Amino acid sequence: MSYLTQKTIKNNTTFSGVALHSGLDVTVTIKPADPNFGIVFKRVDLKNNNLVYPNFMNVTNTSLNTTIENEYGVKVSTIEHLMGALFCLGIDNALIEINNEEVPILDGSAKVFIEKLIAAEINSSDHPIKIIKINKEVKFSDGERFILIKPSTLSLNIDFELKYKNRLIGNQRNKVKVYEDDLSDVYNSRTYCLYEDIELIKKNGLAKGGSLDNAIVVKDEKVLNNDGLRNQKEFVNHKILDCIGDLYTSGYRIIANIICSQGGHYLTNKLLRKVFQNKENFSILEIKEKNLPHTLINKNFLRSIA
Ligand SMILES: [Zn+2]
Repeated sequence: MSYLTQKTIKNNTTFSGVALHSGLDVTVTIKPADPNFGIVFKRVDLKNNNLVYPNFMNVTNTSLNTTIENEYGVKVSTIEHLMGALFCLGIDNALIEINNEEVPILDGSAKVFIEKLIAAEINSSDHPIKIIKINKEVKFSDGERFILIKPSTLSLNIDFELKYKNRLIGNQRNKVKVYEDDLSDVYNSRTYCLYEDIELIKKNGLAKGGSLDNAIVVKDEKVLNNDGLRNQKEFVNHKILDCIGDLYTSGYRIIANIICSQGGHYLTNKLLRKVFQNKENFSILEIKEKNLPHTLINKNFLRSIA
């Protein structure tokens, strides 16, 4: 079997849980899809105009989550952790049925998504994958914060740093090779917030479903969650997970070097819009050669796919 052909899952997989921002109980069923179908969300609570494509051009909100919306105003929000899991596992095609507006937050990481998708088993087609190769450096800045993408030979490398006044989070930086490194610390890392921001977030009608079961809460120099952190760099690792998920709104996996300082959903979306504005910035390659000595699926997941 080639790692360079399009993949979907073999069996349906379903999960339910509270949505972080709306606080509603939501059920998602991920179903297999044909080659070249892509990743498509379907709002099964609506009869018409219920397909929403997770494309960067359809992203209409990047405040504390990534929300996509179709031309009829039908939305799906908080897609980023599920999209990150699909990217890492090399799943090109899937229909994601959802019975409300927001993907359940589960434990705040991509851990359950990864486990569910592996348990559903991966099915390989004989259609070649397509990938995006970045040809030119593109940068998007917002004050001190920036994200930059530049060419790489075969890998996707993300170098991310956080700078917080909060002393527990502080300056945290990590660098991952998305197709090669063990990413468990990335997909196990949970979303987080500062205790002092909760009031404002709730005032803005967000995080109605937020709790210590699905987010790390930091108060001064303390983590309020009983079991503490899952890994030393959980904050920056979660931001890398968000970045991978948001990158998948480009439609394909990517070959590039990414450097980001204090970024998030907004910056990643702005960067993608800037990259795809100019055809000189990128190429979309169809990998016809099936036996390249390389994989564009994270190596540690190949066992579950073979
Ligand atoms: Zn996140």
